[in-house]
Amino acid sequence: MSAVADTLESGHGRSTERPSPLSLLLNNRLAAFGLAVLTLVILVALAAPILPLADPNATDPAGRLAGPLSNGHLLGTDALGRDMLSRLIWGTRVSLAVGLSASLIAAVLGSAIGLVAGYAGGRTDQILMRVIDLMMAFPYILLALAIVAILGPGLVNALYAIAIVNVPFFARNIRGLTVGLARRDFVDAARLSGKSNLRIIVSEVLPNVLPTIVITLSTTIGWMILETAGLSFLGLGAQPPQADLGSMLGEGRKVLFTAPFVSLVPGLMIFLIVLSINLLGDGIRDVLDPRLKSGALARPSARTSVDSRPRTANPDRGGSGVLDVENLQTEFSVGRSVHRAVGGVDLTIAAGECLGLIGESGSGKSVTAMSLTGLVPSPPGHIVGGRVGFEGEDLLHVSDARLRALRGGAIAYVFQDPLATLHPLMTAGDQLVEAIRAHQAVTASEARTRAVALMRQVRIPNPETRMHAYPHELSGGLRQRVSIAMALANDPKLIVADEPTTALDVTVQAQVLKLLGDLRRERGTAVLFITHDFGVISEIADRVAVMYAGRIVETGPTAEVMADPAHPYTRMLVDCVPVMGEPDRRLAAIRGRPPAVDRLPDGCAFADRCPRAKTDCRRGEIPMRSKRGAIEARCLHPLTPGERLETHA
Ligand code: ADP
Ligand code: MG
Repeated sequence: MSAVADTLESGHGRSTERPSPLSLLLNNRLAAFGLAVLTLVILVALAAPILPLADPNATDPAGRLAGPLSNGHLLGTDALGRDMLSRLIWGTRVSLAVGLSASLIAAVLGSAIGLVAGYAGGRTDQILMRVIDLMMAFPYILLALAIVAILGPGLVNALYAIAIVNVPFFARNIRGLTVGLARRDFVDAARLSGKSNLRIIVSEVLPNVLPTIVITLSTTIGWMILETAGLSFLGLGAQPPQADLGSMLGEGRKVLFTAPFVSLVPGLMIFLIVLSINLLGDGIRDVLDPRLKSGALARPSARTSVDSRPRTANPDRGGSGVLDVENLQTEFSVGRSVHRAVGGVDLTIAAGECLGLIGESGSGKSVTAMSLTGLVPSPPGHIVGGRVGFEGEDLLHVSDARLRALRGGAIAYVFQDPLATLHPLMTAGDQLVEAIRAHQAVTASEARTRAVALMRQVRIPNPETRMHAYPHELSGGLRQRVSIAMALANDPKLIVADEPTTALDVTVQAQVLKLLGDLRRERGTAVLFITHDFGVISEIADRVAVMYAGRIVETGPTAEVMADPAHPYTRMLVDCVPVMGEPDRRLAAIRGRPPAVDRLPDGCAFADRCPRAKTDCRRGEIPMRSKRGAIEARCLHPLTPGERLETHA
């Protein structure tokens, strides 16, 4: 992600990076239609005083019920001879104003109640929510009628009634969200910083619920305009001679059979307004959903889209490996720019071998791992080339059913944060059972027995009781063991572990690494181990592949690479690792940042940060070449054994 952040920080091209909310909205044809119609209606309503309209209340008994297009009256006249067009425009103005104000009042009041109740909790929450429940227990329109009956008929009172009966919807929605947010760490952090409750609500909680408020608002405005019209229709809203859409409809009812256009005109207008508001509201909801922000307005498919041609197996290349990745390329299309997150990666892992994939954050490690079984969200991701050989099959081109069988079966994943990957509402045992039964036809009790055995295998103490524990009841180390047990559930040939120890403290990290190492040796499982920490790599990996800006820049046996890397980047990474017992050693930070993957330079992507870069480094493709021993590197001026870089602080 850092590359995206970098390009945003660097300022230029911001507008081309990500489509603006408006252009996303306009992409949605129906929402754009709604917006256009609504804008037109609002503009005409606003312009009512300056339009050459007849007086909406001037009666003319002689010219009553003139049909549309009759002399001087474009839409005809009503039962009192008043000009329909003029009444329609003035009435629309009133209806829109009342509907919008009622919605805003309901949104502000309801959200405030929801925020306070959710944030305060306890008795305040109880009292406020029971009052809201009471209001919700009455039939909706009856409550509005009762309120108008108490306040007396009139447009303003109808507005209050509609606003009040809609308060509970906002209050309930926002309270539910706030309860979750109020117990989050960032709110605690704000409390610790000494902010007052009011400021926390306004500056921490409110921004998080604002999208929901806007969405609820945009989807209920149409409804509220209908309700206002309903009250006016019943004679409780606008009082004669004032026109609003509801009262016009009510007046039209009396002459429905002799002059249907009198009710048809306001009816059509209500239909148009409510339809356009609802279409627009749906569009706004889609745009505000942050998960849809980065890409097109579509949900990711179950498998990454693949644009590359299937290729026949290349007999020269590693039939020996369990995993044999060739020239894998994965891109993200964000707005108009293309991020080449993985730009041609080759990997081979033999049975029982552990390959460590290392690189700075954002170098493309996770995307590589997820591309193997098509887990990159698509859109915006696409695999644009390469081959993922797994035991003789090309995973990029197997059927969906076969891929599903492999995921979690022969190829298992362990991710960084077990709290995020384990289901919070299911016990550890149930999740293990689910993982087993997803791939094996066994009875529930058999699966439970196996689950206990798996837990024992990953050295979880008291597995029988831990089966019933929820993820939040387990420590970080135990949670990660549960994830590893799930990964082992179906005897995988390959385990992809994406920074599985980053969220753990060092002692637990050491235990988890040892566990993975033991399991690999016992079962002959191949492991792709992803990390940004050379210390971890040296403990677990047989071979290491160093990744930079979407490409492998050096690979070789771990010990050799750690001792005498050929690529300056690897040297720098190795120098970043603190060594126990050498407190005086200077830890060299690598200056600069990785390039943004949507604007990769020509030649070596590391050249800008490399003290050894020469002009030839910035020209053309730098090939992967065998350097010395079993080390291969993508570097024109590699380090000789024992050579160190001049200081690069
Ligand atoms: P890491 O090496 O830290 O695991 P990743 O593989 O997650 O890095 O990301 C590599 C690059 O891919 C990042 O620089 C980011 O720009 C890009 N990327 C990852 N996921 C997405 C996404 N969903 N949409 C757009 N770009 C993405
Ligand atoms: Mg990652």
